[in-house]
Amino acid sequence: MPRLWIRDPLAVFADGAENGLVVEDHRIAELVSAGREPTRPVHTVFDASRYVVLPGLVNTHHHFYQTLTRVLGPSLDKELFDWLKALYPVWTQLNPEMLSVATELALAELLLSGCTTTSDHHYVYPTGLEQAIDVQAEVASRLGIRVMLNRGSMDRSVKNGGLPPDSVVQNLDTILADCERVVAMHHQTGAGAMVQVALAPCSPFSVSSELMRETAALADRLNIRIHTHLGETEDENRYCEEQFGMRPLDYLEECGWLTERTWLAHGIHFTDREIARIGAHGVGVCHCPHSNMYLASGVCRASEIEASGAPLGLGVDGSSSNDASNLCEELRQAFFLQRLSSGKSVRYTDALRWATEGGARCLGRHDIGRLQVGFEADLALFSLDNLRHSGYHDPLAALVICGATRADHVMIAGTWRVSDGHIVGVDQADLLTRHNQSARKLRQLSGMEG
Ligand SMILES: [Zn+2]
Repeated sequence: MPRLWIRDPLAVFADGAENGLVVEDHRIAELVSAGREPTRPVHTVFDASRYVVLPGLVNTHHHFYQTLTRVLGPSLDKELFDWLKALYPVWTQLNPEMLSVATELALAELLLSGCTTTSDHHYVYPTGLEQAIDVQAEVASRLGIRVMLNRGSMDRSVKNGGLPPDSVVQNLDTILADCERVVAMHHQTGAGAMVQVALAPCSPFSVSSELMRETAALADRLNIRIHTHLGETEDENRYCEEQFGMRPLDYLEECGWLTERTWLAHGIHFTDREIARIGAHGVGVCHCPHSNMYLASGVCRASEIEASGAPLGLGVDGSSSNDASNLCEELRQAFFLQRLSSGKSVRYTDALRWATEGGARCLGRHDIGRLQVGFEADLALFSLDNLRHSGYHDPLAALVICGATRADHVMIAGTWRVSDGHIVGVDQADLLTRHNQSARKLRQLSGMEG
């Protein structure tokens, strides 16, 4: 088996790999500590002396389709509920071709930010978009990025006291049947899986209690993970009190969701006791700093959640609440926001851990997120030869605090997917043209443009 030595990195986010690491097939075969060389001969050497080497970043929450509705006029300057109401009618017009190019654009953007594994929560199912997960799986496989595709769902529309219009929801039986179908078709198990599927009812205000319970039961039977938005806003707290007579986390427990299968997007409005419960049950939380700041939702207590024992990862969230899909920028923002809210106990290495190992834990993965022998060879390499890093002392801290935005080289399962800042096999100019055309078409179909 050919052996590749990623040699002498400028810095590396791992102990005992000061002189790099050896990749064999799709895994990390060896870490090379300071002053040492690989223990067995290598066939190729990659000179990493210009690069900071990280485990590939793991994105635990996104909505790829939203790349088509970035900074959409009617959605601007709003908080979550009004923001959603402004966007649902536009998302109703999505079709498979649009979702395909939106997914490709989001994945390209993520790859260039050093992301090697990403989750996506697709929850809008207008007529004609029933094959959403199939479309996304095809694009992800083409780009070679690892994905956790969340078969999202909504079955509580306005007429049942929910927030979304009828045009984007489905009924319970249709949803559960399709969940089974896409898991059977796309979900891979075991170490090295490239495509996995989770089940993901959208939120308390768009999903029936029955769908929440049935989803948890189905996930138990299929042995897969479950995901939803929770604890995002005070509006959600009020909605749960009014509709269910309890707070969101109590509602989650009543629906059978306080389990290690679960990871939640946002997790902002939790009390001390609720954080302790999340930790005790091993429920993961994805912190999405840009989205939370943009929608004025609040600040996730990331360090306290992690200290409770819960997995804590990062997510860029959808590209119309961020409005970007750059996980490296998210990592920097998480560090700054958590410093502001929690003080000096938050270190830049915490943010690095959240963006890698923490994310992997949220997704239930034990084969990615760390540079460790036997783990998948998922790497992100960043150079610091630019104006914003010039004069740095500590290279790893520079990556986070001065802020890297673009990886130079990205490897997934032992294969280079980004080389010298370009995605292998993707014509970026052509992608931009196709994506812009789709976004315009969506606006036209929604009556926003002639
Ligand atoms: Zn979201």
